[in-house]
Amino acid sequence: MSLVGNNRIIDPFEREIDYLRVSVTDRCDFRCVYCMSENMTFLPKNDLLTLEELDRLCSVFISCGIKRIRLTGGEPLVRKNLMWFISRLSGYVDSGHLDEITLTTNGSQLMKYAEDLAKNNIKRINVSLDTLNEELFSKITRWGNLPKVLDGIKVAQKAGIKIKINTVALKNINDKEIPKIIEWAHNGGMDITVIETMPMGDIDGDRTEHYLPLSGLRSTLEEKYTLNDIPYKTGGPARYVEIKETGGVLGFITPLSHNFCESCNRIRVTCTGTLYMCLGQEDAADLLTPIRQGADDNSIKNVIYEAISRKPKGHDFIIDRKHNKPSISRFMSVTGG
Ligand code: SAM
Ligand code: SF4
Repeated sequence: MSLVGNNRIIDPFEREIDYLRVSVTDRCDFRCVYCMSENMTFLPKNDLLTLEELDRLCSVFISCGIKRIRLTGGEPLVRKNLMWFISRLSGYVDSGHLDEITLTTNGSQLMKYAEDLAKNNIKRINVSLDTLNEELFSKITRWGNLPKVLDGIKVAQKAGIKIKINTVALKNINDKEIPKIIEWAHNGGMDITVIETMPMGDIDGDRTEHYLPLSGLRSTLEEKYTLNDIPYKTGGPARYVEIKETGGVLGFITPLSHNFCESCNRIRVTCTGTLYMCLGQEDAADLLTPIRQGADDNSIKNVIYEAISRKPKGHDFIIDRKHNKPSISRFMSVTGG
């Protein structure tokens, strides 16, 4: 394998692309109401990149200039033998070719895998958690079990992994509870980010009903807490504040009400080897076909460079009463959040 160091990818808007999100599976052991329908049809196994193909593809991305990789899904930890792939990525961290590997998970498998993750250079993870109420958790995730997730978080913290909680803000579902979740996270030494719902994939229901603009949530929180804007950066699209009363960090991801695209440094590859330059656009490049046709590293690199030369300036998400159908038809679990 030829790994050329010091390469950089600069897109047409002078943004350096050094962050790759890799969706390792479209499957999941939860069925969160805003993410999936209850009866999902998953992709045939043969359409998915094998772990060896994922490893090869990541090595090519790293040789292009990717410095950070986040694994996501679907639920990444339900992919069989994922730890083999993670140990391969860990080798790139050891050799200095990669700065960081992170993971976004629903937490259901953390009890089982947290120690292995820690041993393989995963130092921080995002755990998605929308409520601390067991009954509501079962309703939102349909198939999830809250105590298992909370125990998994403890095991991960014990293994030395720093945790950030991701909470999707859902009007009339968990909005009243968000201050409590923030305090719980901060008391447990975790940062937390709240996320607006994004119109992706056809779910069983109307999204406008539960869309909560975070500007309103921020005003509500300001009645209770002192929020100080801070220039904290994690390589993601969140804007951060520090809450004086808890001493913890709170992030806001507002893809719909605030355009975060100007500093976008990321690209995404799906579990089927499709490269998306933007979460909110349909334009994509197929990497599976060249890989399966035996293309060499340079040819794959050329496909990647050509695709990034088409990275758009921003997304086109809209969610309102007139546009209550998904503006992007693929599910978040396919592209990875
Ligand atoms: N299964 C993992 C998890 O839940 O963390 C990783 C994949 S999940 C698709 C990644 C993130 O996307 C989660 O934090 C989830 O809450 C969020 N998400 C899923 N569908 C969404 C939607 N329509 N709008 C906003 N966030 C969404
Ligand atoms: Fe699964 Fe994550 Fe989607 Fe929930 S948000 S259904 S845990 S992929």
